[in-house]
Amino acid sequence: PQIDTLDLIVLVVLLVGSVAYFTKGTYWAIEKNPYATSYGATSDAKNGKTRDILKKLDETGKNCVIFYGSQTGTAEDYASRLAKEGSQRFGLKTMVADLEEYDFDNLDGFPEDKVAFFVLATYGEGEPTDNAVEFYQFVTGEDVSFDKGDDRPLASLKYVTFGLGNNTYEHYNAMVRNVDTALTKLGAKRIGTAGEGDDGAGTMEEDFLAWKEPMWVALAEEMGLEERETHYEPVFSVIEQESMSPEDESVYVGEPNQYHLGEGGKGPYSAHNPYIAPIAESRELFTVKDRNCLHMEIDIAGSGMSYQTGDHIAVWPTNPGVEVDRFLEVLGLAKKRHTVIRIKGLDVTAKVPFPTPTTYDATFRFYLEICAPVSRQFVASLAAFAPDEKSKAELVRLGNDKDYFHDKIASQCLNIAQVLQSLTSTPFSSVPFSLLIEGINKIQPRYYSISSSSLVHKDRVGITAVVESIRIPGATHVVKGVTTNYLLALKQKQHGEPELDSHDLKYAITGPRNKYDGIYVPVHIRHSNFKLPSDPAKPVIMIGPGTGVAPFRGFIQERAAQAAGGEKVGMTVLFYGCRNRNEDFLYREEWGTYQAKLGDSLQIITAFSREAAEKVYVQHRLRENAQMVNNLLKQKANLYVCGDAANMAREVNVVLAQIISEQRNLPLAKGEEEVKHMRSSGAYQEDVW
Ligand code: FAD
Repeated sequence: PQIDTLDLIVLVVLLVGSVAYFTKGTYWAIEKNPYATSYGATSDAKNGKTRDILKKLDETGKNCVIFYGSQTGTAEDYASRLAKEGSQRFGLKTMVADLEEYDFDNLDGFPEDKVAFFVLATYGEGEPTDNAVEFYQFVTGEDVSFDKGDDRPLASLKYVTFGLGNNTYEHYNAMVRNVDTALTKLGAKRIGTAGEGDDGAGTMEEDFLAWKEPMWVALAEEMGLEERETHYEPVFSVIEQESMSPEDESVYVGEPNQYHLGEGGKGPYSAHNPYIAPIAESRELFTVKDRNCLHMEIDIAGSGMSYQTGDHIAVWPTNPGVEVDRFLEVLGLAKKRHTVIRIKGLDVTAKVPFPTPTTYDATFRFYLEICAPVSRQFVASLAAFAPDEKSKAELVRLGNDKDYFHDKIASQCLNIAQVLQSLTSTPFSSVPFSLLIEGINKIQPRYYSISSSSLVHKDRVGITAVVESIRIPGATHVVKGVTTNYLLALKQKQHGEPELDSHDLKYAITGPRNKYDGIYVPVHIRHSNFKLPSDPAKPVIMIGPGTGVAPFRGFIQERAAQAAGGEKVGMTVLFYGCRNRNEDFLYREEWGTYQAKLGDSLQIITAFSREAAEKVYVQHRLRENAQMVNNLLKQKANLYVCGDAANMAREVNVVLAQIISEQRNLPLAKGEEEVKHMRSSGAYQEDVW
């Protein structure tokens, strides 16, 4: 009998299904690459996914690899930009590589005519980003070993490096500094300076732009490269699929990866594969109308995920409808928003950052960070596609003039569509879609310090999030935090409240194909080292103003439960601050219940900054309680700081050194030394952002 089309489809589905089953998804490469699509997966399999970078460079005919260690996507974005510039301006054969995807024990065989870039973000307390941990341990490790037995095993390696850091942290740009030192020690040759970008000073982008020009000159000289006239070359091909509809089962209309294409997702859940979690409870914590702070409880029962008190939960956001609409309008894509597009890297090493086939609408709504600040370099690259000479000239000027760019765009906190919209009412219909994928980061999950105790609420993760809504002086719009306003919209839906927000952000909170309807949010858990002492009898001092109190609610909940269970619990001191006890005193009504269990061992010391003429902050209270703090430290108390990295955490550090020096009659330098010692021994822990 003849096989008709339906039979054929059934057969193919069965075959694909059983291959997937028997290979346990190996060929689907999901764990490593969340965005691998049927497209990406096939080409990955065809290229034989190797962890050998030398082999990869050889096979793909590349002479320049740009590794990135990235947590929030910026380092990854810079890596892509360097790859593109190297290729277009200097004819380098570049590829971008995730540090996590390669081994480094054969770096001693790195060919002399090739170059490796390391774009490295520093995370938290001078730590590597999650994807750079193994690389970092390898190159900086005591027993780093290569086959080449000499003391300069990396003599053939030429490298370029740039770090992304934040000067408000103690270990500013530790990653790039330590890796640079380690590579040099191993005999590798650095080209250009080891660049450092400073997020704390808000100059990251400008630091990067200023660093890369002399670096290119040095690299061109070293490798004998010639700069050439550039014109735009797309990295991706984007093909509209007339025959497909967004309803087709194979089309991604917001699903994070192929595990989510069918019904609701499949574990194991991780940073690459979120769990669509029910929000069990949500409520407002502030009593004032003009500011919001949300308490949410995320139900992770049955997900296979677990957490420990002090961990972080990551929320995968969706962009607000108003901004999605603005992007589509400005680019002349509004009418085609639901057209299905298939995106493919034009080079074998170019990875599409999100799953495809998809639609224009889904790309802007779920996959790209369209509301983020704009880079000057990206603005300049749009000039070639302006609809008229006037907007073109303006884009060129913005791209070239750092101060003008700052005045017009950065200080106004405009996103890309707002920038283009301010230039002309004619749509920018000629901008290649590939350029947008190259120039706009993929959307990033946002982290929240879990505000519940895993001992008390094993399956319920608490979030305490202040809703970001910032009115920029002189600007016509209010900057709305993407994730926190999404959470606010979810809370409003859960309570049947109208979208109270006058800005009418219009989030698609029921998710792709309404899969998140019934109040769900995509999340994953990230484990942290911010932990209570294992012995509850040990005293703890916690400093957490504002939402910095989040993990300490969890800590206190835990110690109250331990006390109620008959365990001996040591002194538990919380320094908490907010503006006014009647407006933004978080969990005000709850502390009493913990007090009832912990008795005198719980002490909550408050600082209300706007209740008196003189502003009082937690660091002032710390100073007032110098003697008690010092006594507890002498009893080996652990000290924890959570919240604002820029000011509060820094000042606490300063005040603490003063307290120790004064109380123990030591010179200030000794006090500072003691604080450093507390940090390195784990007695002083920070969870700051
Ligand atoms: P985003 O959209 O990311 O915007 C953030 C800010 O960026 C805006 O407020 C604005 O200042 C700026 N911005 C946005 N768009 C532009 C633009 N176009 N131009 C210029 N500037 C712009 N937060 C909590 O509330 N509670 C917690 O417990 C908590 N814990 C955290 C723990 C860790 C480890 C980390 C890293 C962060 C934590 N945060 C916490 C912060 C949280 O992750 C988010 O950063 C925060 O909620 C804002 O996210 P958002 O998506 O709403 O705002």
